[in-house]
Amino acid sequence: MFLPVRAMLLDAPGRPLRRADIPRPVPGPGQVLLAVAACGVCRTDLHILDGELTSPKLPLVLGHEIVGTVVLAGAGVDYFTAGQRVGVPWLGWSCGERQY
Ligand SMILES: [Zn+2]
Repeated sequence: MFLPVRAMLLDAPGRPLRRADIPRPVPGPGQVLLAVAACGVCRTDLHILDGELTSPKLPLVLGHEIVGTVVLAGAGVDYFTAGQRVGVPWLGWSCGERQY
């Protein structure tokens, strides 16, 4: 029922992206799984591609500014429901106490 996700992966800075089928993520507590309708690749992604960030998580699917639809919600998520259209903006700030 859950097909793999087709993605373009960055394996290392400066390398061409590689098409791959990757396992579909399972949302953990407090997380949601989105079906991406549109995604922006921003300057942060380009810093990673250009090798200007010291410890990027690789391989990486570039793009983190998204419009999509909620597919699944993890435990403890009560604000979002399956089928809801959502937008994921750029990370402008965080509380400083939790991971991004
Ligand atoms: Zn960004």
